[in-house]
Amino acid sequence: MKYYENLAEMYVGDDVSPDFYAWVFPKCDHVAVGTGTVCSKQNIKQFQRAIRNRVKPKIHGGEIIKVEAHPIPEHPRPTRVRGRVALVGDAAGYVTKCSGEGIYFAAKSGRMCGEAIVRASENGEKMIVEADLRREYLRKWDDEYLCTFKFLDILQRVFYGSNGGREALVELCGKEYVQRMTFESYLYKKLAKGNPLEDVKMAMDTMGSLIRCNIVGREMMDSFDKTMTLRM
Ligand SMILES: Cc1cc2nc3c(=O)[nH]c(=O)nc-3n(C[C@H](O)[C@H](O)[C@H](O)COP(=O)(O)OP(=O)(O)OC[C@H]3O[C@@H](n4cnc5c(N)ncnc54)[C@H](O)[C@@H]3O)c2cc1C
Repeated sequence: MKYYENLAEMYVGDDVSPDFYAWVFPKCDHVAVGTGTVCSKQNIKQFQRAIRNRVKPKIHGGEIIKVEAHPIPEHPRPTRVRGRVALVGDAAGYVTKCSGEGIYFAAKSGRMCGEAIVRASENGEKMIVEADLRREYLRKWDDEYLCTFKFLDILQRVFYGSNGGREALVELCGKEYVQRMTFESYLYKKLAKGNPLEDVKMAMDTMGSLIRCNIVGREMMDSFDKTMTLRM
């Protein structure tokens, strides 16, 4: 604990995660030693052991108080309000696809829900019911952010599912317009309003990149298959 009092660490490498990173950071009276993966969930225990091994000298003498693993809550949950209970932040599933960003949406949803309760209860003068939370919190949150979450979900499915898709994304991100739209969307946490002409061009570039990269991927696999056949 002493070593990590004012320190957080990030570790990379196939032993601790094939597609993400591992971490150590201090919490109130203990340290969190963890790792993440999307493509190799079944091996999570092995990665947890590996990160503990890597930091062994620094946590020497420490006691393991809890071992746990959770999926990142990247889908707004179908039920976020029931009775007089409302979920916000990770509990509501407010981590975006693609960026894994959840801090802003946790703080924002907490605030929106708190303000909704104050409004609906007329500053604490009357008891609220489920319909108040739905109207004053859920509907407002969905109006503001659900589209962004859905768009990022589609983006992740298209671009993050294969090497071809990832290469297409890298190619697209070389374009100044794509960079500006991405930057503004990240900054303001909403899909940036674009220029219709540029949007059409971006859609065509996207198709072009996807077709090109998938073809390149297929060609590479074909030539790999041929080489293997020749060798055998
Ligand atoms: C490895 C990793 C990297 C991340 N990187 C980023 C990033 O770069 N940017 C970003 O925006 N987001 C990131 N996130 C996501 C972000 O951390 C979360 O979305 C955000 O912290 C959610 O905030 P929250 O308040 O909803 O939940 P939490 O931060 O999980 O807070 C919930 C709190 O409730 C406490 N608690 C739980 N049960 C009880 C109980 N029964 N009684 C009392 N207390 C309880 C927990 O101890 C915890 O302190 C990352 C997440 C992970 C795992």
